[in-house]
Amino acid sequence: MRKKEKQQPVVGETLRFMLKTVRKEKPSLFFVYALQFVAQIALHTVGILLPKFLIDELVLIIGGAPVEEHLTKVILFAALILGISLVANLLNALSHHIIDVIREWFNQYFEVELSKHTMSMDFEHTENPEALDKIAKAKDGMSWYSGGVVGVLDQLFNITMNIAVLCGVTVIIIITCPLLLPVQIISLLLITLLNAKINKIEEEDFLKLSKMNRVWGYMFYQLSDFRYGKDIRLYNSADMMCEKADTFADKQIGIWRSQQRTMRPFGLGKDGVNALRDGISYFYIGYLAVTKAISIGDFSMCVSSAASLYWSLFNIVSSVQELRKRCRYAHRYLEFTAYPAAMTKGSKPVSKGEHTIEFSHVSFKYPRSENYVLRDVNIKIRSGEHLSIVGLNGAGKTTFIKLLCRLYDVTEGEILIDGVNIKEYSDEEYRRLFAVVFQDFQLFAFSLRENIALSEEADDSRIEETLKLSGFYEGAQKLEHGLDTTLFKSFDEKGTELSGGQQQKTAISRALYRNAPIVILDEPTAALDPVAEYDIYRQFNTLVGGKTAIYISHRLSSCKFCDKIAVFAEDTIKEYGTHDELAERSGGIYAEMFKAQAQYYVDCGV
Ligand code: ADP
Repeated sequence: MRKKEKQQPVVGETLRFMLKTVRKEKPSLFFVYALQFVAQIALHTVGILLPKFLIDELVLIIGGAPVEEHLTKVILFAALILGISLVANLLNALSHHIIDVIREWFNQYFEVELSKHTMSMDFEHTENPEALDKIAKAKDGMSWYSGGVVGVLDQLFNITMNIAVLCGVTVIIIITCPLLLPVQIISLLLITLLNAKINKIEEEDFLKLSKMNRVWGYMFYQLSDFRYGKDIRLYNSADMMCEKADTFADKQIGIWRSQQRTMRPFGLGKDGVNALRDGISYFYIGYLAVTKAISIGDFSMCVSSAASLYWSLFNIVSSVQELRKRCRYAHRYLEFTAYPAAMTKGSKPVSKGEHTIEFSHVSFKYPRSENYVLRDVNIKIRSGEHLSIVGLNGAGKTTFIKLLCRLYDVTEGEILIDGVNIKEYSDEEYRRLFAVVFQDFQLFAFSLRENIALSEEADDSRIEETLKLSGFYEGAQKLEHGLDTTLFKSFDEKGTELSGGQQQKTAISRALYRNAPIVILDEPTAALDPVAEYDIYRQFNTLVGGKTAIYISHRLSSCKFCDKIAVFAEDTIKEYGTHDELAERSGGIYAEMFKAQAQYYVDCGV
């Protein structure tokens, strides 16, 4: 009972959403369905009603009635059957074709809508298995499981069309062979029950398979994406990957196999009921014809009507079942779009001009994690200050940046910009404050220009300026198509594979092009050669100009270029000061690290 109460809103809500979307995006689809309706009703009339008149006229001629009197009627009925069939079939084919095109259009439409929603989700959700599962279910549910908008509306069309056919043939049957009615209805009830069982099994397996499909998709993507090719080959990990993929494939096949086994008895039951119904119906109509209770034309009409009655009833019931099933699948999309945000959204605009940053008693643990990564972090960064962040791997440096960019919300304490808690700012405005190059920055398989501007409109002279600053101007000039060169070979076989250093310089250019007041570079020189690295440090002030800059680096010599240094250790900022202050602090973490690195560079002669 509770389940039923829940199902109705799901179906209603999905249908309302589908109809609203069609009305807004492609209202012509309603007209095409109307065209198909007319064509199909015409075909049914031609198939059931007209042959009766034709056969009865022919039987009269064969029985000795005057040919001249009946031949014109025979020709008229034959011409009607031929003409209507031809036009209706053409209309039907045309509308099918148009609907298929619209189906594809909506598939693309929802792919784009889903991507938009995914990209606008809180970053935190990208690591949340529940949210990822919702995305996978929304994708599967709105595409091949439900057939999308057209898949759902097709069922609505089938229901309407078959109700019309049902009304017509019921009248014919009541007049000519009334006992057919209970035979068809009982057999249909049995088939419906069996179908409901089969649908339930399929739906239960959908939930199991959607998680499996996500994992399988990931394995397949990793194995086939050439960007992972180097690691896979050099670490001989193809076997391990293939074994994992095999395990998941086996599990998936196992689910399909058990699904088929459970469904088999219900499938056989359906075949039995169908055979019995047809046997009884033909016997009954045959008996009526032999005893001359109906004409030969009526006999033919009864046979077609019996089939049509059964199939229209069957189609109505199975379309209703199918509609409900498809709506439930498609509803996963609505659930995903309504997935609650992880973070509160503010609306305050960010003030123009200078910005001060303050971390006040900030502690943080990652969602679904028990351990604090940062504890009681306190720091003030004034406008235009260049802050260097150092610390061992895992000390929480990148996490500090992620919190500042509000990819996550702090667990305790607050982050203030210009004295206002960052949660109060409008997300869009707040993000404009930052130009960040993360360690794991991503370049896309677009042109070099698009990778830097990340926008349709790009100012080439500004791009060239940023390339000069990052030290990639000459390298970019040497590329065959300059700024138009496509990166990677995913879309363009002439695409280029940039070296790690060139990629990093491109990412730095992207950050500079953004011209945001706060520049954040997370180990920006990790992939650069020593000369390029030195150039970046030397030009650091020109690079970031008078902007606030936060700079994570393992190369402590680079810290000399910064006003202040924060040393992260033991989940917090352990030391804070200028290079000279910290380097001289005896027994200090920074002093020790600096000495060790200086020694290394002396030893290596760098
Ligand atoms: P650093 O940048 O100093 O090397 P990070 O800030 O990347 O350190 O990581 C600090 C700690 O947080 C590490 O122990 C790391 O394993 C953990 N961590 C980083 N990202 C996540 C995440 N998304 N979920 C859970 N723990 C994370």
